[in-house]
Amino acid sequence: MKKTYSIFLLIILICTFLFVSADIKKSNLELIGKVIYIDPGHGGPDPGSIYKNIYEKDINLEICKKLETILEDEGAIVYLTRYGDYDLSKSYTGSRKKSDLNNRAKIINASGADLYISIHLNSISSSTWSGAQVFYDDVNKNNYEFAQLMQEQLKNDLKTTRKVKEISTMLMNRKITIPGILVEAGFLSNPNDRYLLQKSDYQYKIVESIKKGIIKYFK
Ligand SMILES: [Zn+2]
Repeated sequence: MKKTYSIFLLIILICTFLFVSADIKKSNLELIGKVIYIDPGHGGPDPGSIYKNIYEKDINLEICKKLETILEDEGAIVYLTRYGDYDLSKSYTGSRKKSDLNNRAKIINASGADLYISIHLNSISSSTWSGAQVFYDDVNKNNYEFAQLMQEQLKNDLKTTRKVKEISTMLMNRKITIPGILVEAGFLSNPNDRYLLQKSDYQYKIVESIKKGIIKYFK
């Protein structure tokens, strides 16, 4: 009888320990309760920037899926505007791009998310420019601060020397009322960036940095 009682007591103690440790783990999550929308640029018939057979749309999606995982690991609720190789256009005529961007803005606004991040890759005619850069539209008063925090974080982690840039002509970002930014993760036109951007471990480095920037923003 005494032995049965001891075993019963031991089980109670183990269960209590498990509940308490699960609770401690939960409280360490930095983004619990936050809803974040991630927007992988381009998709479907719109490849974005191209270098030989390397398409911006594919790298954008790879980075965004990694970002989704690590943000969820911190307790965030995460949505992507696209989960595969397609766009969000409802028009198949000349205004397809416009329709795609409008629909992205529409679903992000309707989501009631706390934050959004668009991921793109830069490309210019010169191959010398490199590094990750943050763009924002001042349509939301928090965007400037969020952009600055993120650029600083990217500078620390990825050694980019680029600076934040405000642009009010980005069709989609102008229409999104919740706070958010656009991150150009690097230049597809630069050989070193292009090499790194295709590497899984570098993509993880980028998303770790973005995660830190997001956590700082919420603090
Ligand atoms: Zn792009």
